[in-house]
Amino acid sequence: MAPERVEGHMLRALQEAQAAAERGEVPVGAVVAGPDGQLLAAAGNRTRELSDPTAHAEMLVIRRACALLGSERLINCDLYVTLEPCPMCAAAISFARIRRLYYGASDPKSGGVEQGPRVFNQPTCHHAPELYPGIGEPEAAAILKAFFAGRR
Ligand SMILES: [Zn+2]
Repeated sequence: MAPERVEGHMLRALQEAQAAAERGEVPVGAVVAGPDGQLLAAAGNRTRELSDPTAHAEMLVIRRACALLGSERLINCDLYVTLEPCPMCAAAISFARIRRLYYGASDPKSGGVEQGPRVFNQPTCHHAPELYPGIGEPEAAAILKAFFAGRR
């Protein structure tokens, strides 16, 4: 994928993270892009608003993109998220057959890709996306830091 396209989608995910912070949600944003790079879905966390512990940004964009395509698999689609996915979202990313996963900041506390259960490295994981960590990392980390500083 062209670098400017990657940056554009991550920028949109960062905007969704910022919008989530303004709604009082943990500031994480995500985007699903289709096979030719077009934006299919963008969302930020809505767990509080929806009273739904599964309403993480990644889950919301996967649901929307699947509904849009009328398929439970997002073949050749890419997912952009500002923070390393948690184990639940990593599993959903695998189930959806996401092609490439671009993410910003690592999440030592709740991540499920580089730490904790390392979902994609397990023998029970039947599809692992190509991983591109650290995309937009400083921006994603700054949004998270500002959010948690403001809550103290
Ligand atoms: Zn998650």
